[in-house]
Amino acid sequence: MKQVAGLYVHIPFCDHKCIYCDFYSIIKDDNKTIYLKNLLNEINHFSSIYSTSHQFKTIYFGGGTPSIMEPEYLGSIISHLKEKFKISEDAEITMETNPGTVSLEKLKRFREQGINRISIGIQSFDKKDLKFLTRIHTGEAAVLTVHDAYEAGFRDISIDLIFNLPGQTKRKWKKELSKSRQVCQLPIFQPTV
Ligand code: SF4
Repeated sequence: MKQVAGLYVHIPFCDHKCIYCDFYSIIKDDNKTIYLKNLLNEINHFSSIYSTSHQFKTIYFGGGTPSIMEPEYLGSIISHLKEKFKISEDAEITMETNPGTVSLEKLKRFREQGINRISIGIQSFDKKDLKFLTRIHTGEAAVLTVHDAYEAGFRDISIDLIFNLPGQTKRKWKKELSKSRQVCQLPIFQPTV
């Protein structure tokens, strides 16, 4: 009997380095091709160890900012993973997405490549907090990304917010949660009967 497992793929490229970031991320992007080549080699290596013993039910693209890449870049990785590992037909394939790096059209192309779940790094809706965090997006852009993801056909959408930022009072945090509720005025978030 195969063990059930998930695959994590790190895409290290970012538009810039955020002030608070502890993740491995780089802004240099002229090595995307060599990164892909080495990543596919690593997939080959680990598949020789795990392909017969494990059934993979999830693939997660984290970063970095996977959504900054061309959809076909992630598509080629997904194809290679499917070729080398036992991936479930209905596998959940998630991509971390930053507002400001995707349009509706680009999100549709990610879906065509097999991404079926989106995790959106909103962090805050507050203009000052976003500036402090050196994020590239605005609160409005964050809302638009959630709505575009829904419009593009995604039905599994999560959002990240950062709790306990410097100067984040209880009142400010409640405002963030209230804004999240507004964002969630989409049919997918409505209770079903
Ligand atoms: S977008 Fe995310 S991974 Fe990239 S630098 Fe900012 S916090 Fe780090």
